[in-house]
Amino acid sequence: AKETGKNNVQFYTQEMNSSLEEKLALLDGLRKALAENQLLVEYQPKADLASGLIFGVEALVRWRHPERGLIRPDIFIPLAEECGMIGAIGDWVLQQACQQARAWQMAGLPPMTMSVNVSPRQFDDLRLVARVADALHGSGLAAGLLELEVTESLIMRDVGQAVAKMRELEAMGVALSIDDFGTGYSSLSSLKRFPISRLKIDKSFVRDLDSSADDRAIARAIISLAHELDVRVIAEGVETEQQRAFLQTNGCDEMQGYLLSRPVAPQQIEALLVQQMAA
Ligand code: C2E
Ligand code: CA
Ligand code: CA
Ligand code: CA
Repeated sequence: AKETGKNNVQFYTQEMNSSLEEKLALLDGLRKALAENQLLVEYQPKADLASGLIFGVEALVRWRHPERGLIRPDIFIPLAEECGMIGAIGDWVLQQACQQARAWQMAGLPPMTMSVNVSPRQFDDLRLVARVADALHGSGLAAGLLELEVTESLIMRDVGQAVAKMRELEAMGVALSIDDFGTGYSSLSSLKRFPISRLKIDKSFVRDLDSSADDRAIARAIISLAHELDVRVIAEGVETEQQRAFLQTNGCDEMQGYLLSRPVAPQQIEALLVQQMAA
C-alpha cells in the first residue's frame, strides 16, 4: 500500500509539472498573441423568443494558436486574468466589438446591441469606465448599443463598489446584464440595487430542462424574479426546440444558443440579418 501511495504521489507530481509547463508555454504564447494578430472575435446572435427576431450579438474571443489551433476562452481568459494581460486583451475585444457594431450600422443593417463580457479584474480596474468611453469614442458607436455582461459572482464580492461602477456606466448610457445567473448567491435585496437591464439564465440550467423538474423550477423562478425586478431575461445555451418552447411558454423574453446559431464570423451575422430583413 505504501508503494502504491508513493507511486501515486509521483504520478500526481508529474501531472502537476506538465500542467505547469503547459501553462507557462501558453502564457508565453499569449504575450505574443495580441501583437501577432492571433486573437479573433466571433459573434453569437441573440433573438427575441416570441418573434424570433435577432436584436443583438455577444462578442466571444478566440485564440488561433499557431501550433495548437483554436484555443477556447475558458482556457486563456483565466490565464490572462492571472498574469495581468486581461486589461490589454479586454480593451482589444471591446474596441473590435464596438467597431464591428458601428460598421454594421453604417452598412444599413438594423441596430444591433453589442454585448461584451467583462471579467473580474477588468471590472475592478479603476480605468474601466474610461476604457469603455474610449472604445465608444474611437468607434463612433452610440453608448446605447453597447451592453456589458458581468457575472453574478463578480458583483456580489463587493456590492457597494459594483453598484457605484455600474451607475457610472449607466450614466454614460451603457447597458449592463448579469451573466451566468443562478450560479452565484445573490440576495434579492442586493439585486434590486444593481442598475441592470437583463438577467441571463446560465446554460447549466437550460441543458437539462427536458429531464430535470428541478431545472424547470429554477428557470421559472429566475424568469419571474427578473420580471419582478422589471428587467428582461435571456436564456443561454438553448439547443433544442423543446427547450425553446418551454422557455417561451414560461415567459422568458429572449434566447441565445446553437438552436439559433453558434458563435460565427461577422460575415455570417450579416447574412443572417440580411435574410431577416428580406423575410
Ligand atoms: P459565457 O459568457 O457564459 O458565454 C457562453 C458560452 O457558451 C460561450 O462559450 C458560447 O460559445 C457557449 N454557447 C453558446 N451557445 C451554446 C449552446 O447552445 N450550447 C452550449 N453547450 N454552449 C453554448 P465560449 O465562447 O467558449 O466562451 C466561454 C467563456 O469565456 C464565456 O462564457 C466568457 O465567460 C468567457 N469569454 C469569452 N469571450 C470573452 C471576452 O471577450 N472577455 C472575457 N472577459 N471573457 C470572455
Ligand atoms: Ca457572457
Ligand atoms: Ca454562461
Ligand atoms: Ca461566464
